[in-house]
Amino acid sequence: MISIKSEREIELLRIAGEITGDTHNYLKPFIKPGITTKELNDLAYNYIISRGATPSFKNYDGFPGSICTSINEEVVHGIPGKRKLKNGDIIKIDIGACYKGYHGDSAWTYPVGKISGRLEKLLTQTEEALFSGLSVIKEGTRIGDIGYTISEIAKKYHLGVVKELVGHGVGSSIHEEPDVPNYGKKNTGPILKEGMVIAVEPMLNLGTADVFMEEDNWTIITADEEPSAHFEHTVLVTKDGYEILTKR
Ligand code: MG
Ligand code: MG
Repeated sequence: MISIKSEREIELLRIAGEITGDTHNYLKPFIKPGITTKELNDLAYNYIISRGATPSFKNYDGFPGSICTSINEEVVHGIPGKRKLKNGDIIKIDIGACYKGYHGDSAWTYPVGKISGRLEKLLTQTEEALFSGLSVIKEGTRIGDIGYTISEIAKKYHLGVVKELVGHGVGSSIHEEPDVPNYGKKNTGPILKEGMVIAVEPMLNLGTADVFMEEDNWTIITADEEPSAHFEHTVLVTKDGYEILTKR
């Protein structure tokens, strides 16, 4: 069952989303060569707490961090630790904030210092895939239309679409129905209705679409160790479109 949110729930989801987006804005100036992913994690933790929320990912299925930090070929679910960011890296930061029982979920890929032209393109193109996927959302859109749109952008730029991980509904759980894959056929899948809240999150790779899990049982990396980018917003479905809840 895909839940339709009440006005009260939407209000709480807006606040959770705003805190999530603000946490990204807060972290951005710290994303520089030399900082460790643990330091970024702790900054995010303190900021989220200062806003009266809690980090959604902390202890989720036993996840040890407050945010996910995934560098270069790491696609998602990287555990914050001692690793220092280096000039030329890209880092995916995935943030969830829970406010009064409701969640926001947003990931973004950031350049560290000066990055190569091919990485710059990967970031721009994956961000374009996110906004193209969002652009088809309104009451009546089917989930397959979103994935189709994203995968067409990936095809245009010859990027690999990660299939093992997908977007999802968001509400009083961070992961709810429906699955929102980054691939799909037009006119297939569940129909979106006003009041549904979903996270759309393309993960696109410079090389193969294949991924595997590291020995830490969390970090997902690309099979060919080529870099991957990830952009995600949580949005509310409206009659004529969508409202980004995790605005920046
Ligand atoms: Mg998500
Ligand atoms: Mg996320």
